Amino acid sequence: MTNEYKKLVRELKNFLKYNDLDEFSGSLPVYAPAEPAKKTAPSAVKAAPVVPAQDKPVFKRPAPEPAFDKPVFKKPAAESAGKKPVVPAEDLSGKGMAELEKMVARCKKCPLGATRLKSVFGMGNDAAKIIFIGEGPGYEEDRQGLPFVGKAGILLDKMLAAMGLDRTKVYIANIAKCHPMIDPSDPEKRGNDRPPSPEEIATCRPYIERQIELIRPDFIVALGATSARALLNSASSLSSLRGTVHDYPRNPAIKIIATYHPAALLRNEAWKRPAWEDMKLLMRSANITPPGKG
Ligand code: SF4
Ligand code: URA
Repeated sequence: MTNEYKKLVRELKNFLKYNDLDEFSGSLPVYAPAEPAKKTAPSAVKAAPVVPAQDKPVFKRPAPEPAFDKPVFKKPAAESAGKKPVVPAEDLSGKGMAELEKMVARCKKCPLGATRLKSVFGMGNDAAKIIFIGEGPGYEEDRQGLPFVGKAGILLDKMLAAMGLDRTKVYIANIAKCHPMIDPSDPEKRGNDRPPSPEEIATCRPYIERQIELIRPDFIVALGATSARALLNSASSLSSLRGTVHDYPRNPAIKIIATYHPAALLRNEAWKRPAWEDMKLLMRSANITPPGKG
């Protein structure tokens, strides 16, 4: 086979894999520009980026960098104990949302930057009262560049709808902005997701911290243990962090409610009821009246 031919076959295979949609992805939502929500602050409501429904591109992933096999993060004992990122954190104070988003799109500060297709900055209302924060993008998010657009995202949308909320009223983001994979050598594999490592979290943390600072919500909903621990600087279990309204350590005026990750709810139906209890705690605390109760 000529190289040209091999390349064609490879691209065709990738295309077929990408279009090998399962029963859920067939109905994955495409986020069209939203009706502007009522503004609670002068900053404009950011319309969700338009994702063309057809014409899915065959994504070109950068060739794996040798740095991946040799992790960039060497953990000197002292540093890992202090949980300091090896790459010094940049001072992001003074950066606005748009600039921050551009920085994330170019960021290669941790190994996840080498294997991502698209960074996933976050989406929703820049003046939201509530931010929902997951751990990191998965397969679908990596392709669309938007948070929670796979199966877990459909469930998150249903949870929002049950509270009378939607993506134009809240902000949705992740602790890590690039897709963490169990096996980065096989990016097309499904179920290849993992939570970001402590080093990846430490390196990416300044971005989510600045987003929180800019949005200045009243509440943060931490989706899953990884997010809850990162936001609360805690090593406790999710079950011990649930059920309480915590102060955000960087600004105690902002409150944090921890709940199950929607992907965990898809794996374990029995957690849906306690997760709804967490959302009721959120609604009571944030004065949200669910539809039909007004
Ligand atoms: Fe940069 Fe965060 Fe992506 Fe790592 S995960 S490359 S720190 S944006
Ligand atoms: N899981 C997450 O934690 N975040 C996403 O954006 C999608 C799935």
